[in-house]
Amino acid sequence: MTAPSPDAAELPARALIGRIARTYLAPRWKGLTVAMLAAVCVAILSSALVSILKPAVNDLMVNHKAAALLSIPAAIAAMAIGRGLAQIIQASLINRIGNAVVGDVQVQLFGKLVRADLAHLRTQHSGAYVSSVLYDAGLIREAATSGVINYTQHFLTVVGAIWVMVAADPYLSLTLIVAAPLSTSIMRRFSKRTTKAAKGAMVETSALSTAIMESLDGVRVVKIENREAYEEARVAEVVQRRQDFLVKGANARARAAPATETLMTIITAGVIAYAGWRSQSGHMSVGAFVAFLGGLGVASQSLRQIANLQTVMAEGMSAARRLFVALDVEPEIGDAPGATVLARGEGLIGFEQVGFAYAGGPATLTDISFSVARGQTVALVGPSGGGKTTLLNLIPRFYDATEGRVTIDGTDIRAVTLSSLRDQIALVTQEPFLFDDTIRANIAYARPDASQAEIEQAARNAAAHDFITTLPKGYDTLVGEAGARLSGGQRQRIAIARAFLKNAPILLLDEATSALDTESEALVQAALARLMDGRTTILIAHRLSTVRGADRIYVIDKGQVVEQGDHTALIAQRGLYARLAQRQDLEAEDAA
Ligand code: ADP
Repeated sequence: MTAPSPDAAELPARALIGRIARTYLAPRWKGLTVAMLAAVCVAILSSALVSILKPAVNDLMVNHKAAALLSIPAAIAAMAIGRGLAQIIQASLINRIGNAVVGDVQVQLFGKLVRADLAHLRTQHSGAYVSSVLYDAGLIREAATSGVINYTQHFLTVVGAIWVMVAADPYLSLTLIVAAPLSTSIMRRFSKRTTKAAKGAMVETSALSTAIMESLDGVRVVKIENREAYEEARVAEVVQRRQDFLVKGANARARAAPATETLMTIITAGVIAYAGWRSQSGHMSVGAFVAFLGGLGVASQSLRQIANLQTVMAEGMSAARRLFVALDVEPEIGDAPGATVLARGEGLIGFEQVGFAYAGGPATLTDISFSVARGQTVALVGPSGGGKTTLLNLIPRFYDATEGRVTIDGTDIRAVTLSSLRDQIALVTQEPFLFDDTIRANIAYARPDASQAEIEQAARNAAAHDFITTLPKGYDTLVGEAGARLSGGQRQRIAIARAFLKNAPILLLDEATSALDTESEALVQAALARLMDGRTTILIAHRLSTVRGADRIYVIDKGQVVEQGDHTALIAQRGLYARLAQRQDLEAEDAA
């Protein structure tokens, strides 16, 4: 269904750079241009500082020109100051632009994530997203900014240094014809190794965040089974694998520098021999000799930096590849072209020969047809795994039916805008989710503009007002702070208050399976009864008490409606429902 686009995964490096440039760098072209100009200045001044060695040595040392005593040191100082300033401008712009790029990537990735299809989110662990948002974004920054600009600077510096060397002695420069391909091939070899290691490290980084999140999500299981040591070992293993890759990458990088340096020094030795011979035979001035060596030194230093940048680029490229793969996943569930706004209506729900299968799987629902009239309550019951949750998920289009259609007030829900559809629906789940925010914000989540009076009314309806006011900060209590103090029933009543405030005509309810204490249970049940009053309700029922109150009951088994009717009629049928009811009665008796 929502398979990642293969395009970004196979994009060649040049196209990747192009896309990074278009997406993140183009909007910041002014700052980048200045940074680039600064980089060019640095490169030119570095070469100039080397080329001045020739007159410095010749005029001061050999020819003893008095005027040069002042002019040459002054020129050197001026150029050094200029270069320093340019370096500062370059660095500060790179930092500013780089961090802005990180911010862009993070916001963009999260925006994509929060809008992604449920089907897509279910196929990937959230740890992978977290590592991408936190870690990959930084790698892309490095490649996009310091990578590109420093690369340019060092490349130009090498060009400048070569020019200095050629100017100093064209014959001697022929040695470069040997040196250049040699050093390039060395850098290539190392960059291949670092790229491989970078890829591995990224996979393991994502595995690490997944492992950590998993252990924290399942912390109660971990504790009760005494598996802390096992989890520790599991994470240690991932950490070890990640470290191996990081060390491999760092080693390749560390070796690249001495390898180029050694090569350049050996070349220098050769140059010295040849230059010494030419100088002794009077073909080369001392100044030219010094300038040549200086140029060689600067060139090798810049080559070393380029070798380092190769890794930065390689890491950034594989991070960018992952980023673009993630960004290119288009949600399948969205507004159809020409989608209309679903007006608030009666809240009639219709299922017409609905079939559904999860991606590539067997049919989970087949030929479901029924309708729910305005204000009616329909209960879905049946064995676990029968398809009740799946059916409920089709109504707000968490998933789209693969066959048939679901309608609200006679309109196919795929023909209306998602937001107008979801505006008509309130959802209360088994384990209500509260955000780490105030109780007020949690109730007003769907309507942030709600007044205090409206919020309080909703809380009263949900039998939550009383306990909220006993909290030290009342409605301003942070759920996180109060987390330990809020009982399951209280959390549920906050969620019910949220639904009251939304005041949607359709209510979807996934009844909590775990029993609350009797008093809390009674409060929750009463609140739910008030909430359901006047709304079209479809609920997944686990309790006989709830089921009895429903207008109609559908027994769902293996993806099909196998029985339907009200409680009395279904008991009389002596089928699956009667058996389920009997079992619950027995359990209730046991419990009593
Ligand atoms: P119920 O709510 O009645 O317990 P569900 O609707 O949760 O049943 O599940 C129905 C079937 O669909 C089960 O066989 C379940 O394994 C499968 N299923 C549920 N969610 C997914 C999913 N995201 N991907 C694939 N299969 C799923």
